[in-house]
Amino acid sequence: MKKKVAFVIPVCNEAENIPKLIAALKKSMDQQSYIYTLNFVDDGSTDHSLDVLKTQSHIYSNVFYISLSRNFGHQNALKAGMDTAEGDCMIMMDADMQHPPELVPELLKKWEEGYDIVYTIRKDHRETPLLKRKTSNLFYQLINSLSDIELEEGTADFRLLDKKVVTVFRTLHESDLFLRGLVKWMGYQQIGIEYEPGIRTIGKSKYTVKKMIRFALQGITSFSIKPLYIAVYLGFVCSLVALLYIPYILYSFYFGHTISGWSSIVVTIAFFSGLQLMILGIIGIYIGKLFMQSKQRPHYIVKESNQL
Ligand code: UDP
Ligand code: MG
Repeated sequence: MKKKVAFVIPVCNEAENIPKLIAALKKSMDQQSYIYTLNFVDDGSTDHSLDVLKTQSHIYSNVFYISLSRNFGHQNALKAGMDTAEGDCMIMMDADMQHPPELVPELLKKWEEGYDIVYTIRKDHRETPLLKRKTSNLFYQLINSLSDIELEEGTADFRLLDKKVVTVFRTLHESDLFLRGLVKWMGYQQIGIEYEPGIRTIGKSKYTVKKMIRFALQGITSFSIKPLYIAVYLGFVCSLVALLYIPYILYSFYFGHTISGWSSIVVTIAFFSGLQLMILGIIGIYIGKLFMQSKQRPHYIVKESNQL
């Protein structure tokens, strides 16, 4: 019997990309001996992506879609697809052709060799903006030094997961999803392969700088409590420095230039209030996570779908 491959593809305003991707995947899968389904997740698109998906699902019997009630974000859209798509393995990829469909046979080959998770590492494209490259590298260095997982620079949300990994994944109920980290954390037989990203020709990236910073903070605080310790150490060092300051104050008091203390007081207050705010912020992120988690809200709400 032929094995079944389920593709999971999140879509947010990618109307023009959808038919192109379907054609490209069809081309690359028709040379393989697998049954496959394309499971699109419409993440609250405001263009006519959903109509395109409906039309395509009428043309191709292996195209399925679920449409979320609003935009829940890339990671949650992926989770929605992972929860519903069924297959012997699952391949998740972006709809914007930046994850090259030609790489799919290679992912499948590694899976046949016995790997449970085949992830991909983006080789930096010369045309990737320098700022995006640099900030992305910084992020991976930071998450690797702060957490117990080891993520290769440029790990992408383009990966193959064996059915058994997906089954385990469905039992996880983290509120802030950071799939790259979670997948690495799960263990099993993993292998990474490199790819050169395509250039987005249609539509634009939904990851603004603001969203990327938020995503980075989410990723780090989902996988590490070291920032909390850093906060404690920083606080400790500052108290120590403040303690060392006391002899100086006493010295000035007894030997005469007390009035001139204004600038040092202002500097000290400014420094310590900044530090306190930063530490409070770090603690705040973790409390926020507990808060979100305690509400146990679902990751997404499905509005309509053509899946059973
Ligand atoms: N996407 C999504 N929901 C969002 C943002 C993005 O489903 O809120 C989808 C988007 O349609 C694309 C993929 O996630 O298929 C990756 O997004 P994008 O290409 O904008 O990110 P980048 O490649 O620039 O990091
Ligand atoms: Mg993209």
